[in-house]
Amino acid sequence: MQLRYNFRLYPAPPQRAALARAFGCARVVFNDGLRARREARAAGLPHLPDGELSKRVITEAKKTPERAWLGEVSAVVLQQALADLNTAYRNLFASLSGTRKGPGIAPPRFRSRKDNRQAIRFTRNARFSITAGGKLRLPKIGDVRVRWSRGLPSEPSSVTVIKDSAGRYFASFVVETADEPLPEAAAEVGIDLGLTHFAVLSDGRKITSPKFLHRVERRLRKAQQALSRKQKGSANRRKAVARVARLHTRVSDARRDYHHKLSTELIRDNQAVYVEDLAVNGLARTRLAKSVHDAGWSQFLAMLEYKAERHGRTFAKVDRWFPSSKLCSECGAVAESMPLNTREWACVCGAVHDRDANAAKNILAAGRAERLNACGGTVRPAA
Ligand SMILES: [Zn+2]
Repeated sequence: MQLRYNFRLYPAPPQRAALARAFGCARVVFNDGLRARREARAAGLPHLPDGELSKRVITEAKKTPERAWLGEVSAVVLQQALADLNTAYRNLFASLSGTRKGPGIAPPRFRSRKDNRQAIRFTRNARFSITAGGKLRLPKIGDVRVRWSRGLPSEPSSVTVIKDSAGRYFASFVVETADEPLPEAAAEVGIDLGLTHFAVLSDGRKITSPKFLHRVERRLRKAQQALSRKQKGSANRRKAVARVARLHTRVSDARRDYHHKLSTELIRDNQAVYVEDLAVNGLARTRLAKSVHDAGWSQFLAMLEYKAERHGRTFAKVDRWFPSSKLCSECGAVAESMPLNTREWACVCGAVHDRDANAAKNILAAGRAERLNACGGTVRPAA
């Protein structure tokens, strides 16, 4: 399967200037392409084909005095920027026509130099390479120093060079990796993603985000408050902006590490992992959206999914059509009402449930039922 391997880059000052130029050119091509498509649409013309668009905003544009500087960067970088735009449109159309599942997709937006993340992509035919001295050779940029925290398992098919909001540079390689099946495990688990806990497992375990993550998050909130009090255009404001950006990257790095650790553990210990389908329960569209986003569930679920595939485990999202909190996981009776603040409840059958652990058990049961019935439609447990 294809995986991303990320490494920190340390470009020299002239290389940073060349990268800034490449980020800028890729952005301009992307935006020119988006503008052309929007104008065609506004004029009632058909969707511009990819080849036609490429000719217009790259090949022809380079010949004009306004866009002649596009020739200063690798042509592949420009083509890849347009490829991103084309993919965004294809996903949008697939979502509108219903062939793509999941939540609705927003139309592509213009890119800005103020975006938190600047990125360009080099494919193999851009002739990027790793030098004998271990540097990353990028066309029209130079040989950039890399901190290799681990080896690459195979020759990468592409590399994305990223500059984050804290001014750090990264190389993200796409590589083909071999599957590494693990010995069969006896356990299976259902996971309820909650707001009071990061996750509650069907065996009753409750997983909270680690303390250090809370601490950085608290410092980030304070830094954001401090920033809001600084005068616009002042030197102090600039410093406060940089501090917030640095803390942001620390929070997201710490969260990613935590997600990696937890997902690796869950995949190692369980033969099957079932979660609720977040796109279905609509939580992300409610007022809880911010906490949902902060918890970074989609990142975590994506890790579970690829690790399961890599290690021969089952991972499945369960449609949450059933009232997972109100359904008794012992007898199948449904409680009449269940205010959000009810943490524990007793069923008519005598079972006493922890709200979240009961939901996780129901997710496990639904996941098993769907798996057994894999050839047909959804099986609903008898009420
Ligand atoms: Zn019951």
